[in-house]
Amino acid sequence: MVPVTIIQVSCPLCGVVRLDADQVTLRSDLAQYHFKCPKCWGETIKPADGKVSRLLVEAGAVVADPERVSPALTLDDLIEFHEHLDDEIEALLG
Ligand SMILES: [Zn+2]
Repeated sequence: MVPVTIIQVSCPLCGVVRLDADQVTLRSDLAQYHFKCPKCWGETIKPADGKVSRLLVEAGAVVADPERVSPALTLDDLIEFHEHLDDEIEALLG
């Protein structure tokens, strides 16, 4: 088993706390990282510039795959989906 690096992060409520690197998730597409504080269980989101991102990755932080995070549906998407369904039903009914 690969030993996990302990990293120090800063919780707005508790100050500096120590976490296993794999308890930190990096979103490089958003240039931010987030973690759950081990003391207050608060979710904290912090900006991550290139240097911070690189350090987190080297330490073993979880890198969220933006490809697998779907964008939220918009009203236009719903309308388009609805129209698509109507077409499908019409096609089915001939
Ligand atoms: Zn905290």
